[in-house]
Amino acid sequence: MRQSLLFGKTLRELQSDEVSVNAKLLLRGGFIDKLMSGSYTYLPLGLAVLQNIAALIRQEMNAIGGQEVLMPALHPKEAWEQTGRWKDPGREVMFQFSGRGDRQYGLGWTHEEIITPLAKKFVSSYKDLPLKLYQIQTKFRDEPRAKSGLLRGREFMMKDLYSFHGSETDLDEFYERAKGAYLKIFKRAGLEAILTEASGGAFSQYSHEFQVATPAGEDIVITCAGCDYAQNREIAKQKSGDACTRCKGEIQAQRAIEVGNIFKLKTRFTEAVRFTYRGEDGTSNPVLMGCYGIGLGRVMGAIVEVHHDERGILWPEAVAPFSAHLLRLQRDRRLGKTADALYASLQKSGFSVLYDDREESSIGEKLADADLIGIPLRLVISEKTLEKNQIEVKLRGEPAAALMPEKDLIKYLKTVLGRV
Ligand code: ATP
Ligand code: MG
Repeated sequence: MRQSLLFGKTLRELQSDEVSVNAKLLLRGGFIDKLMSGSYTYLPLGLAVLQNIAALIRQEMNAIGGQEVLMPALHPKEAWEQTGRWKDPGREVMFQFSGRGDRQYGLGWTHEEIITPLAKKFVSSYKDLPLKLYQIQTKFRDEPRAKSGLLRGREFMMKDLYSFHGSETDLDEFYERAKGAYLKIFKRAGLEAILTEASGGAFSQYSHEFQVATPAGEDIVITCAGCDYAQNREIAKQKSGDACTRCKGEIQAQRAIEVGNIFKLKTRFTEAVRFTYRGEDGTSNPVLMGCYGIGLGRVMGAIVEVHHDERGILWPEAVAPFSAHLLRLQRDRRLGKTADALYASLQKSGFSVLYDDREESSIGEKLADADLIGIPLRLVISEKTLEKNQIEVKLRGEPAAALMPEKDLIKYLKTVLGRV
C-alpha cells in the first residue's frame, strides 16, 4: 500500500478527551476514528489488524472443530423471554426498542438465546453431538462506562463459540481443549494471558478468564509468585500479602484486562428451550452447553497497552497491519526509482508492505510516523543508503539499524518474519 494513497492520517497532537493509551495511539496512528464514546470506525490500518486477529482466532477455532456461522444482531423479544433474560439481568446492557406494529426488539449482547434454538433445529440424536459453532460478529452493550478506547465499546466485535454435548465428560474434555486454543490465540497475538478462575454462575464452581496484566486493566487479578494460582479478586479466596495456601508463595494483586472468558453453561439455556437428544438407548437426555468469548477490539486494545513505548506502537508480527514499512526518505528521482523497484519486488515475494512514498513529508515526519504506526520491520532508502548501494533495516523493537545489500534482504526478511 502506498502511504500517499492511504485513507487516514497520523496526527501529531490529539484534540480529544481520550484518556487510555490504546485510544490515544490508535487515533494518532490513523488506525481508528471515534464516532462517540465506546464506538469507533476501523480505518484501513486498524481493520488490517482486526482482520489479522480474526484470522488467527478462526484458525484455532477450526482446529478444535468449530464451524463458523453468522447470526443476526437484531433479535425478537420472544427469544429472550424464553430464557427470562428480556428483563434482568439482560436489561441492564441490552439495547431494547420497538419497531413497526409495536413489535419489540433487542440488539444482541450475547447469542445463547439465538444459537440454542438454532442448534435444536438440527440436533435430535446422539449422532449429532458434539457440535461446536462460532461466529465473529458485532455485539451491542449499553455499557455504563465506555471510556477505555477499544477495551470497552458499546458496539464491538466478539468471537463467540458455543459447544453442545451429550455428557458432562464430553463438555469437560472440550472445555479443556478450548482453554488450550485460547492460550494459543493470545500467545500468537503477543499477549501473555493469565488463566484466571472467576465466578462460574449457578452451574459450575468456576468460569475461566484470560487476563492480561497491565496497569490499564479494569480487573484485579490475585496471583501467586510461586505457582499458577490466579483468581479474579471478585471471588478470590486469598488476598495480596498472604502466603499461598497451595505453595506458601507470595500472593500478589495486579491490574489486568479480561481478553477472553469461557463458561460451562451446562443446561441453563438448553432446558429453557427444551433442547434434548435421543441417546443410544433411545432415552431422552438434556443437551449440555459451554460458551467461549473473545473480544477482538479488546484484544487489539490490550496489545497496544502492552506493546508500546513513548514513540508509538510495537505490533507483534502476527497481527501487524503490514510486515514491513518501506520509507523513501528524500525526494530524489533516482532514489524514488530504487524504492519503487524494491516495493514491487517485496510484494512479488509475498511480503505485505506499507510504502511511505509521500513527497511532502519531512524525513523527521516519516521516521516519527513509522515509530507511531509500529510495523515490526522498517526498511529505509535514503541518499546515504543509495550511495552505499544498500538498504537500511531496523526492527521496531530494537535500537540499532543495519545496512544490507538488496540481494540479502529477502532471505533476511524470511528469517525474521514468520508470516509472509
Ligand atoms: P466485562 O467483565 O469486561 O464487562 P464480560 O464478562 O461481560 O466483560 P463476556 O460477556 O464474557 O464479557 O464477553 C466475552 C469477551 O468479550 C470478553 O472477555 C471481552 O474480551 C469481550 N468484551 C466484553 N464486553 C466488551 C466491551 N464492552 N467492549 C469490548 N469487548 C468486550
Ligand atoms: Mg467476563
